[in-house]
Amino acid sequence: MIRGREPAYRFCPGCGGTLEQRTLRSTEPPRLVCQACGSIFFLDPKVATGVIFSVNGGVLLVQRAIQPSYGKWVFPGGYVDRGEPLESAAIREVKEECGLDVRLTRLLGVYSTPGNPVILIVYVGEVTGGTIQVDEEGLDARVFPPPEIPWDQLAFPSTSEVIRDFLALTSRG
Ligand SMILES: [Zn+2]
Repeated sequence: MIRGREPAYRFCPGCGGTLEQRTLRSTEPPRLVCQACGSIFFLDPKVATGVIFSVNGGVLLVQRAIQPSYGKWVFPGGYVDRGEPLESAAIREVKEECGLDVRLTRLLGVYSTPGNPVILIVYVGEVTGGTIQVDEEGLDARVFPPPEIPWDQLAFPSTSEVIRDFLALTSRG
């Protein structure tokens, strides 16, 4: 079984056979191979998307009401559903998490770190409508002028990286 951050997977989702960890190529991590049907169960990355944008010169962040990082701040975002276009997922997450309608103006960046299964794709947005309100996943949504950004209360290591990249971009004009 693969241990660490990942849960252990014991059975083949296709046939219910037992999965066994095998090294198939020395350049790749061990794979989970079904002993009954021989298929490989790939532990794929998760894709998440988010949008960062200015409101009156500040950055909109939502305070998480769910684990992990309960009570910490992050720009709106979430997992992309299978078959859902990235841009639609990004716009949907903003509407759900802070009540605002946004238009995506450009790609800010793609973020990944060793050992983290999440690949995060972040867009820069522009507010086109709506009013700020949180759903059940948020405690609060607030606009932080750059000097007031709560750097020590951000949800994930990628959150500060994204905000820094966004501020660098907006200061360049
Ligand atoms: Zn199988």
